[in-house]
Amino acid sequence: MSFQLTDEQRLISETARDFVDNEVVPRARDSDRAERFDADLARRLGAMGYLGAPVAEDYGGRGLDHLGYGLIVEEVGRGDSAMRTVVSVQTSLVCGSIERWGTEQQKQRWLPRLCSGEAFGCFALTEPDTGSDAASVRTRAERIEGGWRLSGQKMWISLGSVAEVALVFAQTDPGQGHRGMACFLVPTGSEGFSSQEIHGKLGLRASDTAALALDAVEVPDEALLGEVGDGFKVAMSALDSGRYSVAAGCVGICQGCVDASVAYAKERKQFGVPIASFQLVQEMIADMIVRRDAARLLVRRAGELKDAGEPNTRETSVAKLYATESAVECANLAIQVHGGAGYVDDHPVERYLRDARVTTLYEGTSQIQKLIIARDATGINAMTPVRAD
Ligand SMILES: Cc1cc2nc3c(=O)[nH]c(=O)nc-3n(C[C@H](O)[C@H](O)[C@H](O)COP(=O)(O)OP(=O)(O)OC[C@H]3O[C@@H](n4cnc5c(N)ncnc54)[C@H](O)[C@@H]3O)c2cc1C
Repeated sequence: MSFQLTDEQRLISETARDFVDNEVVPRARDSDRAERFDADLARRLGAMGYLGAPVAEDYGGRGLDHLGYGLIVEEVGRGDSAMRTVVSVQTSLVCGSIERWGTEQQKQRWLPRLCSGEAFGCFALTEPDTGSDAASVRTRAERIEGGWRLSGQKMWISLGSVAEVALVFAQTDPGQGHRGMACFLVPTGSEGFSSQEIHGKLGLRASDTAALALDAVEVPDEALLGEVGDGFKVAMSALDSGRYSVAAGCVGICQGCVDASVAYAKERKQFGVPIASFQLVQEMIADMIVRRDAARLLVRRAGELKDAGEPNTRETSVAKLYATESAVECANLAIQVHGGAGYVDDHPVERYLRDARVTTLYEGTSQIQKLIIARDATGINAMTPVRAD
């Protein structure tokens, strides 16, 4: 594993840092306060090439490797997790799935517009009664002549009310379990498709989150992504990339916490000296730095394995688990360093805490990551309870 960035990687990171400092950071607080999804800024992320960074250039992406992609996500995550969510969902879950599983026609139709930010996409797996147990989706796909009819509900879908296309996971044959799952590329303008924005979230307030309803939505055969029965594999391959992206964004939160805390601790005086002079304050800063560095190295390890084409599900889960829990921990410590000033949004640290909180929930909760990691070690799947009788 390499510990140094190449010149090209350093340039990618510095360019992203400048863009985030100039364009993302100045708007983050107001969007959060207003619970407003900033579509204009999201499109500018696309114009920078940040919505399809690892997608092949032939399809409108930048053809970057995962390490380069992770560096961009880290910077956007430092600036605003709501915007980082746009990058992660659009790039890893939507574009990544279409590029990996799509037909040439599907790729040509959707990828250039998604990568440029001209259109948004969403990834609709979760349902009101189906979260961690993703194989149990109840949305039904019934065969009709020349296509499929989809009916069901989806819950907590990022970009759900602004997306032009939804990757909808549905069950084609309930008797088949996850082997009956399929994924469909559904234009959100289709008759019977509707969305409802979800408000009142603890964090990610500037991220669009929606509940979706599919009321006998009809799509042609060409809407199928992969084959019938591939749906679960499409979802899991997307999450392997999505978890990496969430983890990279959380390294950015850790970095933001260190930056804000160091600056504040050197400026704020108590007992006649900067609070940075107190060993107990230094301890909090040191704890954040250790977390940040460890999370960053775990993300890089997962990225290098992805770029080498090596198996990386366990390493990606380790990175996701550690980086997300560290982001929560760092944000909590950063508020402590700021004292009362950290409790209001003049400083970014209270938003860091609220935004970080969801990262241990979505794209597989921390408990699910632990079960994946320990399943790999033991060969025993403890995700499904074994009944005593
Ligand atoms: C802001 C936001 C955005 C989201 N965006 C998307 C999106 O774009 N697309 C999408 O499809 N979904 C999205 N989600 C949904 C998210 O992925 C789910 O919330 C997550 O997978 C957890 O599912 P759940 O909420 O149903 O919790 P549950 O699965 O009901 O879990 C509740 C608790 O039980 C625990 N638990 C469950 N099963 C087990 C087990 N086998 N062993 C041990 N503990 C277990 C969990 O760890 C958790 O602590 C989003 C959620 C939020 C809040």
